[in-house]
Amino acid sequence: MKINLKERQKIVDFGLRMVADHLTTGTGGNLSLALRLEKKIFISPSGIPYDQLEADDISVLDFSGRHLAGKAPSSEWHLHLELYRNRPEINAVVHTHSRFATTFAVLNQPIPACHYLIGISGADQVRVAPYATFGTPELARVTAVALKNDNCILMANHGLITVGKSLDDSYNTALYIEEVAELYYRARSLGEPILLSADQMQEAKARFRTYGRQTAMDLRS
Ligand code: 13P
Ligand code: ZN
Repeated sequence: MKINLKERQKIVDFGLRMVADHLTTGTGGNLSLALRLEKKIFISPSGIPYDQLEADDISVLDFSGRHLAGKAPSSEWHLHLELYRNRPEINAVVHTHSRFATTFAVLNQPIPACHYLIGISGADQVRVAPYATFGTPELARVTAVALKNDNCILMANHGLITVGKSLDDSYNTALYIEEVAELYYRARSLGEPILLSADQMQEAKARFRTYGRQTAMDLRS
């Protein structure tokens, strides 16, 4: 099926990046992107290693979960759909079992403001959503409710899930949160990390809003 080749290839490419960046092992995790105008969701298929995926394998669903094309969708399709329904501004979801973030998910402990990059979560910490069995509508419900308006949340005894306007955004959030989780883990193994205050995080988050914009040429502030 040549239709939507660009979107399906993107899922293949970012799946390979997840493996290369050590955000996943084997068939763990999944990712999707939504084309809201076309009412389609492109999601990695269930249980197929990322390096064996071809664009045609990518599963296509509508927003009610009807299977339109490709292989059987990720077992977490309920979760991806629930997030798209709850958050009209997001167009991509990334779910990983990346090691350091998942270490805190296993402890059911949030990742606090130990580094300014935590602001990429849209909050001052990455909270933990309640546990539910993988692949269930219950997991979709509890995770979507717990996420609120943040960009990511830990899934108790499971992993990390991130949302964003684009696959680049959702992917980068997964990458940076994993980095902060590793730093926090390392810092805690040597001592008691100093956390940033609410005011310090407020300032960092304000800067994130314009960070990387190459159009802002006024460098005085
Ligand atoms: P899928 O291969 O079905 O996407 O499952 C992987 C996973 O991470 C389940 O939570
Ligand atoms: Zn998972």
